[in-house]
Amino acid sequence: MSAISDPSAPLAPRVRFAPSPTGYFHVGGARTALFNWLLARRLGGRFVLRIEDTDRERSDPAWTEGILSALTWLGITWDEGPFFQSERRHLYDAAAKRLFAEGRAYACDCSPEAVRARTEQRATPGYDGFCRDRGLAFERGRALRYRVPDEGMTVVHDLVRGDVEFQNATIEDFVIVKSNGDPLFVLAVVVDDLDMAITHVIRAEEHLPTTPKAVLLWDALADGRPLPAFAHVPVLVNERRQKLSKRRDRVAVEDYRALGYLPEAMVNYLALLGWSPADGREVLSREEMIEEFRLEDVLRSPAFFDERRLLHFNGLYLRGLSQAEFIEHARPFLQGEHVPWAPGRFDASVFAALAPLVQERAGTLGEVPGLVAFLFVEPFEPDADAFAKAISSDVGAGPILQATIAALESVEFSPAALRQAIEEVAERAGRKLGKAQAPIRVATMGRATGLPLFESLEALGRERTLERLKVALGRLGSL
Ligand code: GLU
Repeated sequence: MSAISDPSAPLAPRVRFAPSPTGYFHVGGARTALFNWLLARRLGGRFVLRIEDTDRERSDPAWTEGILSALTWLGITWDEGPFFQSERRHLYDAAAKRLFAEGRAYACDCSPEAVRARTEQRATPGYDGFCRDRGLAFERGRALRYRVPDEGMTVVHDLVRGDVEFQNATIEDFVIVKSNGDPLFVLAVVVDDLDMAITHVIRAEEHLPTTPKAVLLWDALADGRPLPAFAHVPVLVNERRQKLSKRRDRVAVEDYRALGYLPEAMVNYLALLGWSPADGREVLSREEMIEEFRLEDVLRSPAFFDERRLLHFNGLYLRGLSQAEFIEHARPFLQGEHVPWAPGRFDASVFAALAPLVQERAGTLGEVPGLVAFLFVEPFEPDADAFAKAISSDVGAGPILQATIAALESVEFSPAALRQAIEEVAERAGRKLGKAQAPIRVATMGRATGLPLFESLEALGRERTLERLKVALGRLGSL
């Protein structure tokens, strides 16, 4: 049998995103949601959100909350739902009864052990059809299996993968209702896709193997309504070409949010996982993505989820913000519980003065507190490794600190004057400016890298700068 999606399907698609709330919301899920959303928005369609919580043991409302909040954060808005499969059980029960009454499904009382014992030696894996013609009544304690035709084949027309053929003989009579009465995922999905008049099923590649089962069920239940178009989007892999896994890789959208990634950067990067616009451009606004997204352009090959590229995108988007927007976005990261300074130490106007330089350098908003901590943490304590490297193990550091103290006693505290004074210190010490800056930077800012030195010293002010230089020098003398 071959079921073909109807070319006269309505132009305005009805798509669905159907996550199972069994864990943190995964970047792969977000990418699938985004592809659905882009298609719906481009063609003026509807995006339906359906929470697939039929697995009662693994589902948790807290995970659902996480999914809704992450989608909202990403700006992936839904038009209908969220619908909960746990509230739609009557529909699955009715479909199961119908399939049984029409002879398309049969009751089965085989235990898993019995099936295993009988089928171990068989060439074709899966259930052997033992109960097919036993005429068992459908009642509690018995599973319901779909009677898959022995002959022919089922073809899935996939917009990404082309036609994928499955010989019916290789598809076992699969369970659609468990012996405890719970409907199986494959049945619930088809019943819902029909009921919600879904036109495009865009989902993860891992669902391709169950799709012929869905096609069979659709043909049995749809009363002639055309199949949705299928598009199975490629799996995400890490740099070792392994499928992303939550044990190995950072996969939770929530983590990226907490680290200070911007939703716009995230959405832009996610869109490029398995898709790119025809002209190969990479930095795209949401409107451009909507305009240009085509399922036909989605690739089959696994997509590399490269955290470093995501970081690069985030930097681009951070730098694209206006200064006021940047300060606004940084605010929660500077005020939370996890800031390195004591409550009340933060000074918004001091931060605002340095904000443009911070914006130039930060990869994520989460890096912002670290870049400005030298201004607000008291008592100040340079990083021990940086101190050892740039000061205690550098014989020239002492004289440079000493000369800098002398020079900065009287110099005007502006970036230009500070630069000139420190350039002179460097010259007298016979060092390049960068090399001379290292001990000064570690003594006053606490680390070897970060914001530019002269603007930072201006923000720190003469008194604190001199005090820190003297402490470092004193510590060096007592080593
Ligand atoms: N609930 C499934 C999942 O979270 C998606 C099923 C589907 O999209 O058809 O992987």
